[in-house]
Amino acid sequence: MADTQAITELSKRRGFFFLSSDAYGGVAGFYTFGPQGAALKANVESAWRDRYTVKEGNREIEAPTIMPEPVFEASGHLDGFNDMLVECASCGESHRADHLVEDVTDIEDAEALPNSEVADLIADHDIHCPNCGEPLAGQAVENFNLMFSTDIGPGGDQPGYLRPETAQGIFVEFPRLKEYARNQLPFGVTQIGRAYRNEISPRKGLVRVREFTQAELEQFIDPEEDEPNLDAVADVEVRLYSAEEQNKDDGGYLETTIGEAVEAGVIANEWVAYYLGISQEWYERIGVDMDRFRFRQHLAGERAHYASDCWDAESELGGDWVEIAGFAYRGDYDLSKHGEYGDDDFTVFKQYDEPKTVERAVVDPDMSTLGPEFGGAAADIADALRDLAARDPDAFDGDEVTVDADGETYTVSTEVADFRVEEQTESGEHITPHVVEPSFGVGRTVYTVLEHAYREDEVAGEERTYLALEPEVAPTYVGVFPLVGNDERLTDLATELVRDVREAGLSAEYDDSGNIGRRYRRKDEIGTPFCVTVDRDGVESEGETTVTVRERDTTAQIRLPVDALVDELTAVREG
Ligand code: ATP
Repeated sequence: MADTQAITELSKRRGFFFLSSDAYGGVAGFYTFGPQGAALKANVESAWRDRYTVKEGNREIEAPTIMPEPVFEASGHLDGFNDMLVECASCGESHRADHLVEDVTDIEDAEALPNSEVADLIADHDIHCPNCGEPLAGQAVENFNLMFSTDIGPGGDQPGYLRPETAQGIFVEFPRLKEYARNQLPFGVTQIGRAYRNEISPRKGLVRVREFTQAELEQFIDPEEDEPNLDAVADVEVRLYSAEEQNKDDGGYLETTIGEAVEAGVIANEWVAYYLGISQEWYERIGVDMDRFRFRQHLAGERAHYASDCWDAESELGGDWVEIAGFAYRGDYDLSKHGEYGDDDFTVFKQYDEPKTVERAVVDPDMSTLGPEFGGAAADIADALRDLAARDPDAFDGDEVTVDADGETYTVSTEVADFRVEEQTESGEHITPHVVEPSFGVGRTVYTVLEHAYREDEVAGEERTYLALEPEVAPTYVGVFPLVGNDERLTDLATELVRDVREAGLSAEYDDSGNIGRRYRRKDEIGTPFCVTVDRDGVESEGETTVTVRERDTTAQIRLPVDALVDELTAVREG
């Protein structure tokens, strides 16, 4: 198994990823994907797009990465998107207080504890600063907001933030998106884009960085009517680290199928179950090792207050389990919040099959009475009374009713409010859709694919390192070599083949430097599934020209007519 250092070293040497702005000392948590890494990431993203956008019939959008402050007031990020910070009094280095506690205790989610308790645990366990070794006891644990702030415009008078998740870019556009979907639920909107979090302690290469790519799907549903196509995933086998298994704490899992897990009530929400099912298959498709993969259920204290059913996809990396995607049933939280704070309609009008006659509580305040008594607030009080009648008709049972308007509390007699119940014919109603959100970290996925593909073996008595990447995601699909670099018949044909392979939409690299074994090794290290070698035997053979094709994992070689090469390679790539 590869350790993080081996992957990081290989990644730097072979152009997968490396610390950014290194010439200026670099900044922790910012990485550049090199040519191989950027191609691998793009392939993972297209596999994601294929599965979650195209095959699901969803729509993809691209929203800005900077958004104005009110968006994050509404979403709750301004107040609540915090991590626990403890600063070392000796060296000034900041640390994630909850992570320090988790490292030395068997507490799995210290973030759910109050700050003061985490500070006490730091003192009780005599935790020292990982940077300078001085004790951290006695230091306060504070909330640190992870959003990067910025000032919009030359005057700098409009505060903005770099989005900490791509999701808000979808939610705020809901009024446009629902029109596009012609008010018909369910519909799903996807986005692949950058998110920014000022992480206190970036670590483990791509796993915890400050700028990263997310691939998110917001599935909007009518909770009363819409059901997922559960049959499509009922037989998918999954390994669930359910809340019950976590409590047993014996390292066991629930090995089951999606269908059975729903039946047994282990996965409470069918939409979440559906996405776990298709995601299990998707991760396998892109080369995640299924023996190092599980779905972990959030424990009750760990869930966001609005999320009723929450699971993480986790992969095992360097001996630790790491969250690589989250699946949450978010109810109507997000759209209700934007409906409350934003100036638009975040509901969907749901047409009834037949118009319905319904009894509605209404108020029709006598403004001439409400006017003089309450002055300028009369219109706001009337609105507040209407809202209250719609929400809570029982509030009008007595002689008086109390409402808040314009920041004051007013008492109005129910007679003045003119409360009554009327029969009305309605053709439909406004509902706030619920949201199911699969949210993927692309960098963590890429890193998982790399680490799970990492292999060491021996070929002809020599050690080799290779990446057993799936053809669909391999950044360089074919290496093309003339056996020797000084024979024009070979170099010309190899150059021509590179062109043909690229023309067919497959990535190819030409290499004529060094002995053939070295060239194979270089391609093995970047996970290239096939190497094509043009040799004299093939060019001089009677009849058709042939080349050898070597398969990466087995190193087995076959001879193919050159005319069949592109078709064969394309067929394998397309599975
Ligand atoms: P963590 O607990 O590891 O900080 P999170 O629960 O805050 O993650 P979410 O807000 O659910 O993460 O974000 C969805 C996905 O985005 C995660 O599953 C992960 O793959 C990715 N992600 C989140 N934070 C980072 C980060 N700092 N660096 C890289 N990827 C990240």
